[in-house]
Amino acid sequence: MGTLHIFDMDGTLLTGSTANLEVARRLGTLPELQALEARFAAGELDTRGFSATLHTLWGHLTTADVTAAYTAGPWLDGIADVCADIRARGEHSAVITMSPDFFARHLLDLGFDDVIASRFPPLPFSAPLDPAGILTPDDKVRLAEELRTRHGLPRTRCVAYGDSMSDAPPLPPPHPHRRRQRRPPPGRHRRRRLPRPRPHRGLPPRPLPATQLTRRPP
Ligand SMILES: [Mg+2]
Repeated sequence: MGTLHIFDMDGTLLTGSTANLEVARRLGTLPELQALEARFAAGELDTRGFSATLHTLWGHLTTADVTAAYTAGPWLDGIADVCADIRARGEHSAVITMSPDFFARHLLDLGFDDVIASRFPPLPFSAPLDPAGILTPDDKVRLAEELRTRHGLPRTRCVAYGDSMSDAPPLPPPHPHRRRQRRPPPGRHRRRRLPRPRPHRGLPPRPLPATQLTRRPP
């Protein structure tokens, strides 16, 4: 029986940083992003309000900007090797992130089977943002379950890799094989190697919520 490996992006594959930080750094809009994150942390914005503001702030963003931001990001070493290893075992890999799809989709090039992210209009933004395409924390649960169902796997054959409790929803806590990573000090990027997947014992099955697959095409 296979295994489904679900990875977080911000702070996990992208160590000590986020997609939004990397794009903001590229565009010179870090102060605006930090102000936006402060409002999000204060509960003034949800993920949809946050993304709507990004859509306005980054109206001039191009695919070349995103590619440059992605390339400059502090990624873990060995991601492509691990994806290849997972595939060679006949297993499955996926990234689920609430960050923008225009950034996260680059991870498909590393070998992930699925990359699921918040959907933005094509770059540069020439269409309004559809709030329905912006993922929320609850969506991570739903999407993880949809992937698991699509692969016909029990929950005991799923493992999540994340850097914070915000990555906990894809699997019920506590999970002995969930990888938690310590955050580096602010402003410091610590490059680490992605751990290779190992067999695990998993958890007894629990009732599943109704789910609907939302797969973002590359
Ligand atoms: Mg994270």
